[in-house]
Amino acid sequence: MNNQGLGTKCVQAGYTPGNGEPRQIPIIQSTTFKYDTSEDMGKLFDLEASGYFYTRLQNPTNDHVAAKIAALEGGCAAMLTSSGQAANFFALFNICECGSHIVASSSIYGGTFNLIAVTMAKMGIEVTFVSPDSTDEELDAAFKDNTRAVFGETIANPALTVLDIEKFANAAHRHGVPLIVDNTFPTPVNCRPIEWGADIVTHSTTKYMDGHGAAVGGAIVDSGNFDWMAHADKFPGLTQPDDSYHGIIYAEKFGKEGAFITKCTSQLMRDFGCIQSPQNAFLLNLGLESLHVRMPKHVENGLAVAKFLQSQPQVVKVNYPGLETDPYHEIAKKYMPNGGCGVVSFELKGGRKAAESFMKELKLAAIETHVADARTCCLNPATSTHRQMTDEQLEAAGIPAGLIRISCGLEDKEDLIADLANTLATIQ
Ligand SMILES: *Cc1c(COP(=O)(O)O)cnc(C)c1O
Repeated sequence: MNNQGLGTKCVQAGYTPGNGEPRQIPIIQSTTFKYDTSEDMGKLFDLEASGYFYTRLQNPTNDHVAAKIAALEGGCAAMLTSSGQAANFFALFNICECGSHIVASSSIYGGTFNLIAVTMAKMGIEVTFVSPDSTDEELDAAFKDNTRAVFGETIANPALTVLDIEKFANAAHRHGVPLIVDNTFPTPVNCRPIEWGADIVTHSTTKYMDGHGAAVGGAIVDSGNFDWMAHADKFPGLTQPDDSYHGIIYAEKFGKEGAFITKCTSQLMRDFGCIQSPQNAFLLNLGLESLHVRMPKHVENGLAVAKFLQSQPQVVKVNYPGLETDPYHEIAKKYMPNGGCGVVSFELKGGRKAAESFMKELKLAAIETHVADARTCCLNPATSTHRQMTDEQLEAAGIPAGLIRISCGLEDKEDLIADLANTLATIQ
């Protein structure tokens, strides 16, 4: 499988039916699994044998789809979660505990920012946020003795900043901790963070991977590259006996390739139960089968829309790393030579009032809080997700009241541009 192209993996990886078996991944719609003897089942509970016993922990449909995502990212093991939020929480909490510290890029998805800054703080886990543009010295200064992970997003939602993955990975490794990268926006079709030194990759599969706005989900992929035993004092959860499994030491028993995902499944999935439903995993797989065909079209539409907007007098500024004028263009070219994604943001002259009337006039682009699916959608943060903030607060947060995020879908770009042109004409 490893030598095959990315498109072949999108279509075929993760599931190879035997003679006379279903061609499509079967939906194993069963909460539980039957065994002939208690001894057989006991071996599963002791992690002595691998197999299924209860879908709160693992399900075969999910595992086929997770294996496909692992193959796409160039990882060695993966698991699906019920949402992207659950994926990022699990990826961090698998190696952090009360008293740990995280270094995170400040330019990340609002939900993840809140998870780390507010909810994980209540669990006694501290964070230092750093600019995605930090120098090596600034990054080094953010680490503490209790730092256990570095976190960032390849292309941040919604700021559209691009993470210098190599720089962040090197900083993490200088301090003996892994880099976790949320790769939701480019997907492995456009960027594979593991190839640049990331240790763990996460996804909100709700976005491009599903791609049709049908199923909320998440995924965690382990590169298998991080040597937990070499930093055993930092990661006792992986390198010390787990009493809830008869004293198993994950990093010893499952090695670099198996420890992270096995622990995450057998502890966090067991205790928190954020499993993706097999039905959603099936829908996600349908999305993955065309991911390599859809992403170039999202990029083509995103670039065309960004260029059009840039030429319009009503537009103050366009953020899109694919534009040569974008501050992240060079770094985006390095990590994503084929382009990043279809999400563009732009600021209208006339602030809140202009944005409000613009949103009203759009015909094709729907108003949604969603991004990254087949249908183009638009959001004005000032009047929706960030409604509680004043214009001054919005400006300070880098989200001016006139900012609009447009997620370019798979329609014909001429129609998207016509919709925008007609709408802009109404707000002269
Ligand atoms: C949407 C999103 C999430 C959260 O994912 P859900 O599936 O909505 O829980 C996390 N990270 C990024 C980059 C996202 O865009």
